[in-house]
Amino acid sequence: MTTKLTKQTHFDAIIIGGGACGLMCAVQAGFLGKRTLILEKADRVGAKILISGGGRCNYTNLYATDQQFISQNPHFSKSAFSQWTVEDTISFFETYGIEGKEKTLGQLFPVSDKAKDVVQVFIDLCADLDQDIWCNAEVKIVEKTDDGFTVRVEIDGKQEYISAPNVVIAAGGLPIPKMGATDFGLRTARQFDMKIADTAPALVPLTITGKDQPWYEQLSGNSIFCRVWNDRISFEENILFTHWGLSGPAILQISSYWKPGESIYIDLLPNQNIADLIQLEKETNGKKMLLAYLASLYTRKFAEALSDKLPVEKNLASLTKTEIEDLSELIHNFKVKPAGDKGYDKAEVMRGGVSTDELSSKTLEAKKVPGLFFGGECVDVTGWLGGYNFQWAWASGFVIAQNI
Ligand SMILES: Cc1cc2nc3c(=O)[nH]c(=O)nc-3n(C[C@H](O)[C@H](O)[C@H](O)COP(=O)(O)OP(=O)(O)OC[C@H]3O[C@@H](n4cnc5c(N)ncnc54)[C@H](O)[C@@H]3O)c2cc1C
Repeated sequence: MTTKLTKQTHFDAIIIGGGACGLMCAVQAGFLGKRTLILEKADRVGAKILISGGGRCNYTNLYATDQQFISQNPHFSKSAFSQWTVEDTISFFETYGIEGKEKTLGQLFPVSDKAKDVVQVFIDLCADLDQDIWCNAEVKIVEKTDDGFTVRVEIDGKQEYISAPNVVIAAGGLPIPKMGATDFGLRTARQFDMKIADTAPALVPLTITGKDQPWYEQLSGNSIFCRVWNDRISFEENILFTHWGLSGPAILQISSYWKPGESIYIDLLPNQNIADLIQLEKETNGKKMLLAYLASLYTRKFAEALSDKLPVEKNLASLTKTEIEDLSELIHNFKVKPAGDKGYDKAEVMRGGVSTDELSSKTLEAKKVPGLFFGGECVDVTGWLGGYNFQWAWASGFVIAQNI
């Protein structure tokens, strides 16, 4: 039998995962004079921050409240968001040289448009505050000991055992496996008999297959401002037609509330009434063809694509009441039954995760396992598109740092 050599360390906590949550946790712990060690599987920290927002990092949202988060317990995130607010995020980054600019709908990006500036803030602060970061260090398992935890980590093919009184699981979720996403957070929770809220890809494009697919494919690249809804929620943003179905912000948003087999509905002309608009146009321009009229509202391509569903060759004056009703139904109540979603390869976040029932909302410590903390995406708190997920990652990292 081989003896297991465990390195006793002086760290107050081992943080597993050097993403948004883990980095914020290390820095905030450092401000409190605590020492942490980040173990990061990849060869660098902050990989998802670097690709976020198209490489520009939408690091928070001016209008974030607990209302834009999905969880089995919608109240769970309130405590963390009251401890670390959007203003805290903004002033934290301002203090370290990152001014924010709002792009749209409260979405805040660095003025430099460079996500790498955000990551650099954490790398510099970790160095200044003496917080250790080990990259290429994949944690295999966390074990409970009498006075804390032992973590088995693989570094350059060698196993090491490191111990500390606290362990923070900030290992993210399942999206983008090719970037090294793991189920480590979920696995560790299960290992300690903690419940998991069902997981699924979220903020993800939706696919259309079968006889309808060519209709969407012909429109690939067309983007339309819409209201997209189901029986739970509605979003007003652009949709984007693609070769395989639908994407764009409104679709990504609704995908987080969509379940396989369900339909979604699209109002292709939100806040206006197509029947009234046609009536008005008819008064001065009755000879105009419906095709030309629709092309003026949308693109020519989109108007042409509607020719299999509407009498686009007729002029406006000759449209019957029934035809206008059908047109109105199609424009304002366009029903789509997605075949599926594009999966974790294309999802921005994971829905579900470590059940909030298992964690203290005030400290994010596991109720059954004192000293074990969960933060960021591996917890069942999933934000909307638009900087909300980082706000949760920063807030949960901050909260944990206060309690390790
Ligand atoms: C393409 C894309 C764009 C996005 N854009 C935005 C955006 O603009 N705004 C926004 O708010 N959100 C955005 N998100 C979501 C956001 O990136 C995540 O919500 C956020 O990164 C979650 O932070 P985290 O710290 O929980 O996890 P992560 O940032 O994923 O970090 C987890 C880390 O843990 C490491 N790890 C995993 N397992 C182990 C292990 N066993 N041992 C050691 N290390 C391990 C991983 O390598 C990873 O570095 C985007 C996501 C994607 C995929």
